[in-house]
Amino acid sequence: MTHPFLDLPPLSAAHFAAIEDGVARLLDTRQDVLVMQGEALLPLEGAIRSAAGPGTTALNVITGPYGQTFGNWLRDCGATVIDLSVPFHTAVSAAQVREAFAAHPEIDFVSLVHAEAATGNTNPVAEIGAVVREHGALFYLDAVASVGAEPVLPDAWGVDLCVIGAQKAMGGPAGVSAVSVSERAWARMAANPHAPRRSYLSLLDWKERWLDGGRAALPHAPAQLEMLALQACLERIEADGPQAVMRRHRTAALATRAGAVALGGGLEPYVYEEADAAPVATTLRVPSGVVASELVAGALAGDGTLPLAAGGGALAAEMIRVNHYGVDATVGAVQASLAALGAGLAERGRTVDLEGARRAVESAWR
Ligand SMILES: *Cc1c(COP(=O)(O)O)cnc(C)c1O
Repeated sequence: MTHPFLDLPPLSAAHFAAIEDGVARLLDTRQDVLVMQGEALLPLEGAIRSAAGPGTTALNVITGPYGQTFGNWLRDCGATVIDLSVPFHTAVSAAQVREAFAAHPEIDFVSLVHAEAATGNTNPVAEIGAVVREHGALFYLDAVASVGAEPVLPDAWGVDLCVIGAQKAMGGPAGVSAVSVSERAWARMAANPHAPRRSYLSLLDWKERWLDGGRAALPHAPAQLEMLALQACLERIEADGPQAVMRRHRTAALATRAGAVALGGGLEPYVYEEADAAPVATTLRVPSGVVASELVAGALAGDGTLPLAAGGGALAAEMIRVNHYGVDATVGAVQASLAALGAGLAERGRTVDLEGARRAVESAWR
């Protein structure tokens, strides 16, 4: 019996390469683009282990939970790590990065998360990239949550290792990811005796066995389903227009902020400044006396399709995440999310303006 997911013809090397080229177009990059056959943590970890080692001094910017993970990998590689942490309600500034270089001129690697779906902030990568370039350091960027929701431009911004995944604003599969690699980054890896080789984490293996051979033969069996899904999602973005997709996310974020303020009941945008708020997802702070995870659980019990989650770990009590990305970057998802949160706050005795919230969302959408 045939099945839509099974019995697929093999995915050719040329087809795989064409999908990589689609990612390169999306990122407007002339760097090498490798599609990696795993969730985005694969290239995120692979790129750090390939480029960093005992001789590395890394500036690790922490604006959410992923920055903490990157610092741990860097330390594990033997790098000297300088952490630059900012509160989750804001973004890091280029001036803070400049100060870090002034205090530690030996920094030769910078790791940064562009947008944080987990904390709802976004960082000014273009400005930070200019500072990193002035100092000649290698620039590593996690753009998993930003790609599709706002511009991600590794060449224009001087990013040497730019990692994306399709599962957030691209509305695609979680099982494949990609990394763009600059010439400088390849040189750094080649000179790193600790860079993984003959390993699933190895970027150099893919360079040798795939890129340097003109992408003629795949080193491993391609993950067909995920590759076809990635292709479909790239084609959908090209058809809708990347600008329109990004505008939808930006509008969803602005509408959620405006709607939450109009709703009242003690609900507030978690990220103070609108400019620091990520287009991919909006975080909200609950008033004291309300537990965010309970409010979210109540909303989801009423409608399990709402794109709501409580903050992770210690943030579960105070933070709500409205994950208005992909198919949920719509006026309907934002309206329904705020209405459900408003109903939960009203049940807890808070005064809310449901109609005001509805109008605020509608007018932000116009
Ligand atoms: C979602 C996301 C990832 C991917 O990680 P998951 O744990 O699989 O969700 C990586 N980095 C950032 C900044 C993300 O938001």
